[in-house]
Amino acid sequence: MTNQIPEARIGSIGGSNRWGQPFPGVLGRDDIRVIERYSAIDTPFGQVGPFKLIEVCGESVLHVRMHGMYLEDRVVPPWVAAKGVAWVFQQAGARYVFGDGSVGGIQDFQGNPLEPWSAVVMSDYKRSGMLIPNSIPPAGISRTNKAFYHRMAAPFCSCLRQKLVEAARQQPEFRVVQDGGIYLCTGWGEFESVFEIDKAREEGCTIVGQTIAYEAIALREIAADGGEPIHFAAMCVVSNNAENGGVWIGDSPDAMRKFYEQCPLPTSRAVIGAIDSLIREGIDGCLCGNFAITGFGIFPHEDA
Ligand SMILES: [Zn+2]
Repeated sequence: MTNQIPEARIGSIGGSNRWGQPFPGVLGRDDIRVIERYSAIDTPFGQVGPFKLIEVCGESVLHVRMHGMYLEDRVVPPWVAAKGVAWVFQQAGARYVFGDGSVGGIQDFQGNPLEPWSAVVMSDYKRSGMLIPNSIPPAGISRTNKAFYHRMAAPFCSCLRQKLVEAARQQPEFRVVQDGGIYLCTGWGEFESVFEIDKAREEGCTIVGQTIAYEAIALREIAADGGEPIHFAAMCVVSNNAENGGVWIGDSPDAMRKFYEQCPLPTSRAVIGAIDSLIREGIDGCLCGNFAITGFGIFPHEDA
């Protein structure tokens, strides 16, 4: 166990659909092994972790459990943990990050309910109307921080998304794998009301979760300050029907527990499949490097 941040070109942010089993142990593969474990890592945004350095196809992958939020004695808000995890990946030199999470299903492209065990590789997000504190700490930030404003078009890398879609479609446990959709990111600590889900459906949202939009923002922001983009894509698996006024999840009293015990295996296989494809083939043609803001000048004028 160490706190020194290792070098890793590839990052993995585990979510709740991988929190019910050991990773990568659930895969039972001798060729994927843990090289080093890292407890909570100190960052400018507080502690996040724990991390593991994993060897996949001969390459180091830095993995963090449950969005980096679940420390030994406390839980960190997801919008704070996202900043810390992004900072760790920046220090590690990560260029590619895969994420995943379990979500409520709102609707598919036809407006039909998106049932549990549907996988979605989303293409965009919407934050809920509630105001979540942004990344800026109360004391402000340095005026030399180039990431004070950053564009959020195409928040998920089209190339990494395609790799996740292809790998997820190899997993028979998933009822369907949807390529694209809108991730509604709400606050945390409670789920949504029926009215809120009705409104989200009217607006065209696909799934609802509470973490991954913050990670997309944090990774782009920290890349904007540091230079090269960090390519990010995530896959979500529907664990419940969201609050639609009907059944939340199945009619078995332990349906939720079973989901979280069973979901880590196909999710881990899909993420490792996408990582394997990245290592073998690389990526070509995404837009991730197109959103840096340049030519903006230096403002405000001191006498404005
Ligand atoms: Zn990209």
